[in-house]
Amino acid sequence: MAAKILDGEAFATRLHRETSARVAKLKARGTVPGLVFIRVGEDPASRAYVSRKEKRAQEVGISSRTLVLPASTPLHSLLKEIDALNADPKVHGILIQSPLPPALPNDLVYAHVSPAKDVDGFHPVNFGKLLLGDPTGFLPCTPAGILEILRLGEIPTAGKHAVVVGRGQIVGRPLALLLARKGPGADCTVTLAHSRTAHLSEITRQADILVAALGRPLFLQQEHVKPGATVIDVGVNRLADPADPRGYRLVGDVDFASVRSVAGAITPNPGGVGPMTIALLLSNTARAAEDFSR
Ligand code: NAP
Repeated sequence: MAAKILDGEAFATRLHRETSARVAKLKARGTVPGLVFIRVGEDPASRAYVSRKEKRAQEVGISSRTLVLPASTPLHSLLKEIDALNADPKVHGILIQSPLPPALPNDLVYAHVSPAKDVDGFHPVNFGKLLLGDPTGFLPCTPAGILEILRLGEIPTAGKHAVVVGRGQIVGRPLALLLARKGPGADCTVTLAHSRTAHLSEITRQADILVAALGRPLFLQQEHVKPGATVIDVGVNRLADPADPRGYRLVGDVDFASVRSVAGAITPNPGGVGPMTIALLLSNTARAAEDFSR
């Protein structure tokens, strides 16, 4: 039987509708949710990501703008810009687009954003709240988007074995913690695999829910997947392709063509996790504005 397609675009459209309604309520009370993107340097992929997010923000009624800084921006100038946004009552969410130029220390920069405006969920205070199960924090958008894919796709989680491949700070590690939480949409038994994991395919074949967040093009093949498993593909990778005018095409961490015939449910890529990440960013921004206007 063909795998059920977990259509991230369609789920994201549902979430955008809910966010639009919340934004309309805020505006009726006199609060226009504001989101500012900070982009440092001219990385073409970052430029494309930010303009996609900005467009969606405007569609749901969030006022958004992008602060573009040269790649040579010194740390103290960037921190000063963040200070000004932290203090601006019209700004409810701040997103620093990665990657930052190598001279700028990621951890220091992300920790400078006010935790109340950290709609990306990267601040240590918000990460700590995730760890403690404190719902007042912001969850990181990609892991939270994956939980929503499982919920909207009606994939049971309680008692299931989830294997997350990749222990990165933005996706794998927080997602493993979220799936292991007590309560609806979680209660999984979780294995967190990484580049030093021995016998990876034996482990992934035990997964009821298999998440690929390793950043290796088309890495997960049919032999990694138990028949009927739910497969979530987070990866965004460039694969050289002379037939494409850009010289490359974007592919996930999962070989969709081979895995879809064995999986029970699977996210397409593109059109799976990516749109849900944006949907959660905008939902977090509406939350930040709601908290501010209380
Ligand atoms: P990351 O921080 O570089 O982490 C990658 C993880 O994968 C590491 O834990 C690494 O193990 C593990 N890994 C690498 N090669 C492996 C292998 N052969 N076998 C098993 N594990 C392996 O990356 P990330 O930021 O988490 O991102 C992961 C992917 O998701 C990237 O393709 C990124 O572009 C994509 N992404 C997509 C979205 C979205 O919205 N769709 C959002 C964020 C990220 P070690 O820890 O041992 O090095």
